Amino acid sequence: MKPSHIEHIGIAVKSLKESIPYYENILGLKCYSIEEVKEQKVKTAFFHVGQTKIELLESTDPEGPIGKFIEKKGEGIHHIAFAVKDIEKALEETESKGVRLIDKIPRKGAEGLYIAFLHPKSTFGVLTEFCENKNSK
Ligand code: ZN
Repeated sequence: MKPSHIEHIGIAVKSLKESIPYYENILGLKCYSIEEVKEQKVKTAFFHVGQTKIELLESTDPEGPIGKFIEKKGEGIHHIAFAVKDIEKALEETESKGVRLIDKIPRKGAEGLYIAFLHPKSTFGVLTEFCENKNSK
């Protein structure tokens, strides 16, 4: 397998409202979508940077994954997401090479993408996401 590009970088923030103006007014990017992903207990905000997106993640629940991340590590880069062509196959191949998976079965993430995470213990500390846009087929 080989990812085609970095689909997005996930960044944990305490507040979308407070962080969006930095991306818009300083970096000159435009937030094109705000979406709540209830299952993940987050609200997301997206920006395009070329082919890659920035995904800001605000926790909607201190017990959710982003809430816990911010409590432990503070705001900052949370994960990196690679675009893959066949997510089921990518996961199977990765696992067969000894990488621990968080999600063995892809689930629906923001923007209707299919996503799955690899365990950071197996990826040298980087929480790694695969995503596949099945709509674009
Ligand atoms: Zn992501």
